Amino acid sequence: MAAWLRPLILMIFSGQLTALPETIKIGGLFHPADDKQEVAFRYAVERINSDRTILPRSKLLAQIEKISPQDSFHASKRVCHLLRSGVAAIFGPQSAHAASHVQSICDTMEMPHLETRWDYRLMRESCLVNLYPHPTTLSKAYVDIVKAWGWKSFTIIYENNEGLVRLQELLKSHGLSEFPIAVRQLGDGTDYRPLLKQIKNSAESHIVLDCTTERIYDVLKQAQQIGMMSDYHSYLITSLDLHSVDLDEFKYGGTNITAFRLLDPEKPEIQRVVKDWVYGEARLGRKLQLGPTSVKTETALMYDAVHLFAKALHDLDTSQQIDVKPLSCDAEDTWNHGYSLINYMKVVEMKGLTGVIKFDHEGFRSDFSLDIVELSKDGLRKVGTWNSSEGVNYTRTYGESQKEIVEILQNKTLVVTTILSSPYCMRKEASEKLTGNAQFEGYAIDLIHEISKILMFNYTFRLVPDGRYGSFNRETREWDGMVRELLDQRADLAIADLTITFDREQMVDFTMPFMNLGISVLYRKPIKQPPNLFSFLSPLSLDVWIYMATAYLGVSVLLFILARFTPYEWHKPNPCNPNNPDKLENIFSMVNCLWFAIGSLMQQSCDFLPNFSPYEWDNPHPCLDEPQVLENQFSLLNSLWFTIGSLMQQGSDIAPKAVSTRMVAGMWWFFTLIMISSYTANLAAFLTVERMDSPIESAEDLAKQTKIKYGALRGGSTAAFFRDSNFSTYQRMWSFMESARPSVFTSSNVEGVDRVVKGKGSYAFLMESTSIEYVIERNCELTQVGGMLDSKGYGIAMPPNSPYRTAISGAVLKLQEEGKLHILKTRWWKEKRGGGSCRDETSKSSSAANELGLANVGGVFVVLMGGMGVACVIAVCEFVWKSRKVAVEERAKRSKKEKNEFNNAI
Ligand code: GLU
Repeated sequence: MAAWLRPLILMIFSGQLTALPETIKIGGLFHPADDKQEVAFRYAVERINSDRTILPRSKLLAQIEKISPQDSFHASKRVCHLLRSGVAAIFGPQSAHAASHVQSICDTMEMPHLETRWDYRLMRESCLVNLYPHPTTLSKAYVDIVKAWGWKSFTIIYENNEGLVRLQELLKSHGLSEFPIAVRQLGDGTDYRPLLKQIKNSAESHIVLDCTTERIYDVLKQAQQIGMMSDYHSYLITSLDLHSVDLDEFKYGGTNITAFRLLDPEKPEIQRVVKDWVYGEARLGRKLQLGPTSVKTETALMYDAVHLFAKALHDLDTSQQIDVKPLSCDAEDTWNHGYSLINYMKVVEMKGLTGVIKFDHEGFRSDFSLDIVELSKDGLRKVGTWNSSEGVNYTRTYGESQKEIVEILQNKTLVVTTILSSPYCMRKEASEKLTGNAQFEGYAIDLIHEISKILMFNYTFRLVPDGRYGSFNRETREWDGMVRELLDQRADLAIADLTITFDREQMVDFTMPFMNLGISVLYRKPIKQPPNLFSFLSPLSLDVWIYMATAYLGVSVLLFILARFTPYEWHKPNPCNPNNPDKLENIFSMVNCLWFAIGSLMQQSCDFLPNFSPYEWDNPHPCLDEPQVLENQFSLLNSLWFTIGSLMQQGSDIAPKAVSTRMVAGMWWFFTLIMISSYTANLAAFLTVERMDSPIESAEDLAKQTKIKYGALRGGSTAAFFRDSNFSTYQRMWSFMESARPSVFTSSNVEGVDRVVKGKGSYAFLMESTSIEYVIERNCELTQVGGMLDSKGYGIAMPPNSPYRTAISGAVLKLQEEGKLHILKTRWWKEKRGGGSCRDETSKSSSAANELGLANVGGVFVVLMGGMGVACVIAVCEFVWKSRKVAVEERAKRSKKEKNEFNNAI
């Protein structure tokens, strides 16, 4: 039921009209220093009295009592005095000490007590209405914002135990996180520097500051003095009154200072009210030093409290006959409308200076909305809101915040750390002494210049003192090099050939990569080999030579065996009388013609020449029909002789006659033809191309040997790559590098290149491909061996949580899209400082002829072996055929003989 409905219904049902006394006194307890509270109280009363819509028939009368914050006895006395005068409510005081006494008296007398102060107690008395936001809800707001920012670790600076109560939700919510948070107390004195220095040394840049509003300026000022108000520091201030602190000195520092506020000083309502107060006081001849930005939350809450009371009383008045009576602290008096009024106050919902005022069912102000304010160069600006149901809601867009960052950057001079490494940053050669940025030139210098032109910032270069890129020392557990410089915020940017690695990315922020590369090997160029006495062996690989020798022996032996086996290789030993031939024969039988043709095709000489003359007809031999022995020309030695003759393309005086042996010979000739042609062709290539001696062709080759030493830059990402690799080859290489004495690590790329040059082949340097590219453009003795072992990029690094990361990344992308990065690369790699000296040499392709391996000529061996198999089969067939023929002939002879004998006998 709506709050306003209830009294109305009650009134209708009770059927009675009610009336409040004409003057209703309300008591206010204020400390002498709280003049603003008192003013708010008085003017709230005045405003209600002049507003005829609330309490139209009554007037409020402010009864003000001044009490000392520490003097609770006096406070009790003043409360009793007020009660005796017949007040309807007590407002204040602000001090917790005095308030507790006032509270207990009000409780006893059932007198409504309205407070506007921070009260950490989660259980409150029944007669109390406190307009200050409930501590648990406020604490939730801090948790939400810290979560929204994604702070992993932070330091809490608190002033007193109440602060810890305020932050208890934050402490609890972080409890299980792996990242530690530090909690430090501010101490009593006014010098906070020692404490701040400790925090600075811990490299913590996220700070939650919980202290009274009056101390905020001093803490921030001292933080600024010791360098804790940089672009990378973020402060969350728990006070709701940051708008009342003078933050002018911190506006341009770029530090992120954020707070919540309940009160928007820019609201016209507040401005009007404050103006009324100032004019009203001036009319009374008093000067009130107050502006909308200096109104504290508690002051505005006091104003709202009076309004809340008036509204509740007004509502109650419509339902009850209210009389206000004097109460005595000495008697057991109570005000019987007290509780009703309190209950009405708790159900009222109204809009005040501090937003919507309403209470939850427990009577706490939990449902409220806070503005999130951030310090910008125009002062504190509202960037979002928080409420308990929706949490943090940023109203500022990402684009707007980036725009602001770019604006801040325009007035800045950034310190840029770098390292001497060609061609990224080199000392300029000049006759006069150069100073400042003019001392350096190179790719990185030009790149930062281009970026600064886009974002319009200034910069100064600072060489990294230890001359290192940045690695984590596992003994000291500290980072070194440029990464250390960034972590200590001695530099704002690090630009060099600084590789983006996982470990570094955990510590510092990187922009988009501006160059891509990978690890490779720098080594001396292969040197020309002196002509080799046995270079004729080179066209074929060793295994091919071995296979050929084996084939030669195999074929010879097979020829020998088949020649024994086939009957057609057996000749009659002696030719008969050539002068008396029985018949003439022609060697060019069909088979012989084919044999002759194939022999010629295979570039082998045949044992006969074609002659179509009658002279071709030769003496037939052997002429003895039945010799006692037959002879075979294919002895083992002759077989070897035949095959070697064929291989050398010379032919021999013996020739196979049987189909099987001719098959062997034919296949061998085919083999010979292909092998000799391949050999000849490759020999020509070998003799024309200079042989280069290159003992290593890749990083794997390096890993396989120990003769050539190899190393990398000490503390660089290349060394870290091998150290952290899980790949066995690279692990082996790392152990080799680590154990090598003298050390194979160098302190710079220049030293590494020097070692490769001086090492004359005994040292290889593992280096990044872009740097290798630069070196081999200028030093023609050196080359890159093999491909890249990995793929990564160089980025511009900056301290963690740097606000400039997005802007600088954007500038890098812009330069890339415009092709400027490519122009810079060409300038510094190919043109300046002797670039392009080795271009002619590098363009000569090292098209060295390769020896022929088994993979190239293996097929010929297969054909040879197939042919040998076929020849064996043919030999068997021949043997069978001849045996059958001989048997038939023998039988015919025998039957003829028997016939003759039979004829002779008859
Ligand atoms: N670019 C490397 C780094 O950022 C340095 C050179 C190297 O290790 O080869 O650490």
